Amino acid sequence: MCRHLGWLGAPVSVSSLVCDPPNGLAVQSYAPRRQKHGLLNADGWGVGFFDGTEPRRWRSPMPLWGDASFASVAPALRSHCVVAAVRSATVGMPIEATATAPFTDGHWLLSHNGVVDRATLPASGSAESACDSAVLAAALFARGVDALGEAVAAIGAGDPGGRLNILAANGSRLLATTWGDTLSLLRRPDGVVVASEPYDDDPGWQDVPDRHLVTVTEDRVTLTPLEGS
Ligand code: GLN
Repeated sequence: MCRHLGWLGAPVSVSSLVCDPPNGLAVQSYAPRRQKHGLLNADGWGVGFFDGTEPRRWRSPMPLWGDASFASVAPALRSHCVVAAVRSATVGMPIEATATAPFTDGHWLLSHNGVVDRATLPASGSAESACDSAVLAAALFARGVDALGEAVAAIGAGDPGGRLNILAANGSRLLATTWGDTLSLLRRPDGVVVASEPYDDDPGWQDVPDRHLVTVTEDRVTLTPLEGS
């Protein structure tokens, strides 16, 4: 995925996070402002959210900007915890809904912005797609997403060319890593947004330095340097 966004806070509509902001993911699908790799994100989109403790997903291999059905329904989808993404497929990766984040193990919703050499990852029979991000998600689920920082540092050490910006949420925690790409954080009175790039020009957006882990819980936000930084 080339641009992703997470929310943890009060229940809000998916539309208010993805479609309504002037530079939200809907606009980032054709005009991202800070993307380092790729020009646009037309190879699919995915929205995941927690319905109570149940993760639910809506994914498509088509561009988000053209999806009138999603735009119509998104204002009615409300959640306290959301992981959404728009995709720019890495060369050679399949373009299909199952290659599109968020991925899930039934507890976590997880998105990957970047690229990883699949040969450096443990073989997994449970990946949804042959896409590098799907194989990486399966590896992270198998390792345990709770230790995301350690996992990303270890995978990064094994694949020096890898870019490993991960975003994951389980309904009560939102975790994100920076490893090769941009990430910003906005603390709102009603919750916290973590996004590949700011969805508006609010001066409250804070850039997360590279090779850090962001941990968001109901009452705090923590930034921790990752090993190898
Ligand atoms: N490598 C992933 C894919 O092909 C993610 C790509 C990206 O972040 N641009 O989907």
